[in-house]
Amino acid sequence: MKKMTPQMLAGLSDRTKLVYAGREPSEQFGFVNTPIYRGSTVLAPTMKELLDRSNRFVYGTIGTPTSEALENAWSAISGAEGTVCVPSGLSAVSVALMSCLKAGDHLLITDSVYRPTREFANGVLKRFGVETTYFDPMIGAGIEALMRPNTTAIFTEAPGSQTFEIQDIPALAAIAHGHGATLLMDNTWATPFFFPPHEMGVDLAIEAGTKYLSGHSDLLLGMVSANERSWKALRETYLQSGLCAGPEDMFLALRGMRSMLLRLKEQEKAGLEMAHWLKARPEVDKVLHPALPDCPGHDIWKRDFKGSSGLFSIVLKPFSQTAVAAMLDDLALFGMGYSWGGYESLIIPFDPRSYRSATSWNPAGPALRIQIGLEDTEDLKRDLDAGFARLRAKG
Ligand SMILES: *Cc1c(COP(=O)(O)O)cnc(C)c1O
Repeated sequence: MKKMTPQMLAGLSDRTKLVYAGREPSEQFGFVNTPIYRGSTVLAPTMKELLDRSNRFVYGTIGTPTSEALENAWSAISGAEGTVCVPSGLSAVSVALMSCLKAGDHLLITDSVYRPTREFANGVLKRFGVETTYFDPMIGAGIEALMRPNTTAIFTEAPGSQTFEIQDIPALAAIAHGHGATLLMDNTWATPFFFPPHEMGVDLAIEAGTKYLSGHSDLLLGMVSANERSWKALRETYLQSGLCAGPEDMFLALRGMRSMLLRLKEQEKAGLEMAHWLKARPEVDKVLHPALPDCPGHDIWKRDFKGSSGLFSIVLKPFSQTAVAAMLDDLALFGMGYSWGGYESLIIPFDPRSYRSATSWNPAGPALRIQIGLEDTEDLKRDLDAGFARLRAKG
């Protein structure tokens, strides 16, 4: 077999890339997969090589064949200059922000952001002298008015992982770059397959590998990919903070990656089918799915995104908390739990009213976030249908 060069890999379609990225059998005695390299110490053959640090691998925190395989594969998929792999999605958020901020800087964050990102900004970043302003996710080019001389970064998440507003990333990129600021995006929902972040102007793209990359709800991992402009600072910040992920988790992520696109496409199809079915239910007021017109930013999604994943929300008509509990407590197929992106369907109630600060959230009734897994959709509909009967019975 010919050795796969990065140039050959770059020319392949996404599906084929996923099969060949991040492995070089000739370096692994012919074994197909890059194995789990466990290790802190790497022995140098001579004192000169030890002191020069000229070996391909130097120390466990700096990289192993396993981490290199996953990071190179993710860069190939994302069209990135480089990637760092860290122990959780949240640490991907924090290392990305730390790589482009310093004391005295001003940061803009979308009001629809993943809540722990907000807590990192309001906690650690504030203590380190960074001031944050939250903005309306639908602000688009209007963000110009919020830019200050010390605004060095804009943090976006499209769509917001509860309320699903789609942001105008190209417009935000143009304004960020016009001011010399960095554009960050949490791209966990779309993944690079449905939204190629760097091609669209994002400097630092975050993916919670815990979700679709893992695909099996059995690991925690985060990826940050960078374009040329942001790569050096990201890599330096990553090395200085010692945020290396565990080798088993990286190996499992590489394994999950092979089937990631197939799972995503199935979950997209099933998610759309369920979203349309829910839209037609009398108990449902709105379906917040980027591919449906109820969703703020639906037109932007149509313009910029290549697909949708299996996570969306619904707003119910007015029902009591007791009625919602009666519906959810006895579901047989939908589990109640945080996170998503696995093979199993999930449902959780959410209410962002207590922590939103730049925009208000005034739904008609209770809101539910739904992740569609790999089950048969007819079974899922039957489970929800029985749930809706319990909801109506309790009012
Ligand atoms: C889950 C999630 C994260 C964080 O990932 P963890 O691995 O759980 O820390 C970040 N952003 C989004 C949008 C997420 O859904």
